[in-house]
Amino acid sequence: MAKTYSIAIDGPAGAGKSTMAKRLAKELGYQYVDTGAIYRTVAYFLDLWGVSPKDIDGITRYIDELTIGIEYDADGLQHMIMNGMDVTDDIRTQDISQKASLVSAHKVVRDVLLDMQRQVAREHNVIMDGRDIGTVVLPNADVKIFLSASAEIRAKRRFDELMAKGQTTTFEQVLKDVKQRDYQDTHREIAPLKQAHDAVLVDSSNLDIDGVVAAIKAVAAGKIPV
Ligand code: C5P
Repeated sequence: MAKTYSIAIDGPAGAGKSTMAKRLAKELGYQYVDTGAIYRTVAYFLDLWGVSPKDIDGITRYIDELTIGIEYDADGLQHMIMNGMDVTDDIRTQDISQKASLVSAHKVVRDVLLDMQRQVAREHNVIMDGRDIGTVVLPNADVKIFLSASAEIRAKRRFDELMAKGQTTTFEQVLKDVKQRDYQDTHREIAPLKQAHDAVLVDSSNLDIDGVVAAIKAVAAGKIPV
C-alpha cells in the first residue's frame, strides 16, 4: 500500500483548528477529518436514547446500536451519518459540546472510535484535528501541531459562530463552557488533551486564518510533499 501522509492538529475548543484544517486540506488535496464531530455524534445518539453521558453502564449497553458514517460532500465538507441519518447540523449545539466532552472520557467510547480514525488515515492523506491525534491516534503523524489561544479569544470565536447560526447564548456562558471543557479534556485519565512531545506549538491568539495557515505550512515544509 502506498504511503499516506498525515497532519495531526490538536488543541482546545475554539483554537481555530477546523477553520484552518479545512483550508489547508483543500490546498493540499488532503482529506479533512474533524474527530470532535465523531464524539459529538456519539453524544447526540446517547442523548436521543436518554442515556446520561456519565452513565457508563448505559453507554456500554447502547454503543453497539450506533453505526457512524463519515461522508464528504462536493465541497469536501464532512457529514456525520448516525444510523443512516445526517446529523451534521444537529451536533453543533452547546449542550452537545458539553455532553461530547463527558462522553469522550470513557474508554469504551474511545476504543470504538480509535480504529475508525486510524482506518481513514491508512487510506487517505489526512489532516485530522482533535485532542489526542498526535499523542494517541496517529503517534507517527508526519506533522504535529498543537494549536492554542487564550480562553477569552477562543470563547469569542465560539460565541460569534453560535450567533451566526442563530443560537441564543451569552458570551459569559460560552466562556464558562470553554473553560469547563478545557478542564474536563485535560484532566481525564484516558487520552487527555496535551501537546505531544514532538508537536510544534502555534498560538493563534493574535493570528488571523491566513496567519495560522502560513504558520502551519512553515512547520510542515520538508515533512510532507507539497
Ligand atoms: O472539537 P470539538 O469541540 O467538536 O470536540 C467535542 C469534544 O469531543 C471535546 O470537548 C473533547 O472532549 C472530545 N474530543 C476528544 N478527542 C478528540 C476530539 C474531540 O476527546 N480527538
